Amino acid sequence: SKHILQVKDLRVSFNTYAGEVQAVRGVSFDLKKGEVLAIVGESGCGKSVTAQTIMRLIPSPPSVIKSGSIKFDEKTEITRCSNKEMESIRGSEMGMIFQDPMTSLNPTMTVGKQITEGLMKHEHISNSTARLRAIEILKQVGMSNPEGRMNQYPHEFSGGMRQRVMIAIALACSPKLLIADEPTTALDVTIQAQIIDLMKKLSEETEASIIVITHDLGVVAEMAQQVIVMYAGKVAERGTVNELFYEPQHPYTWGLLRSVPRLDQDTDSELVPIPGSPPDLFAPPKGCAFAARCPYAMQVCLDIDPEHFVVSETHSAACWLLHHDAPKVDRPKEAGG
Ligand code: SF4
Ligand code: MG
Repeated sequence: SKHILQVKDLRVSFNTYAGEVQAVRGVSFDLKKGEVLAIVGESGCGKSVTAQTIMRLIPSPPSVIKSGSIKFDEKTEITRCSNKEMESIRGSEMGMIFQDPMTSLNPTMTVGKQITEGLMKHEHISNSTARLRAIEILKQVGMSNPEGRMNQYPHEFSGGMRQRVMIAIALACSPKLLIADEPTTALDVTIQAQIIDLMKKLSEETEASIIVITHDLGVVAEMAQQVIVMYAGKVAERGTVNELFYEPQHPYTWGLLRSVPRLDQDTDSELVPIPGSPPDLFAPPKGCAFAARCPYAMQVCLDIDPEHFVVSETHSAACWLLHHDAPKVDRPKEAGG
């Protein structure tokens, strides 16, 4: 099937007073039409920068796309679009949902106006047609009394309802690609589940492809078909949800899976964080970026950054343990080994 997105060897840096931060260091992945891809990893791993670069939402300067390609819908090279072209693509073909809707909703404008404005701008329809469409979309995102809700301001909505409004605004332009950056992180657990259900339903009903950025593996399991695990600006492992959960290959993925509370335990059970912290992206290590935290690190890991080893057509990981000469290690039980 056709690709909505083909990202190849993307490198993004930030120029700061302290020097150049290499936030994204050679990321490649494909997303097919109608698929949901999850990007997971700790904060600072480059997942948000990757997503915002796809939408060209990071101002340049300070960000610089150093190299690589982002092909959208098999025709548009995003890295070469003008700001004006991007504005039109963002409003009509790509939509974004952020963690905190309050930062992206306009507090001084009614919710109805915020949805109809987008519709009118991109579809050249009349105010009354746009109004009817907006009410339809609010219904679609599970809003009761959508007519009444149209006249309310963002502060009159709860956190979960505001996230539904954000999704409604993103959906109003019938995007081909929807990027959701930590869409449920700011919400409490029950509301999180409702928003995930909603996004799942919409991904099935609309033809939109979705990239969901999250540190929550529960969200991944619920929503996605494909997963990429990012670490220190690179893809550590990629695979289908089943491959990642049942046959994870990268020690960092093992660590992530261990840091998830098990469903059969109390919800307040302690997470087991991965000891240590990610490397300094001002001066990334020459070898494997995870080596300093990896219990399996070998000399080769310190010397040479591993390429991706192919596990299956859909599954690969950047770890020397997959080399045929590497010692066999015992996988942690929690990681499906
Ligand atoms: Fe650990 Fe080496 Fe694999 Fe990196 S390449 S994750 S240091 S075993
Ligand atoms: Mg982020």
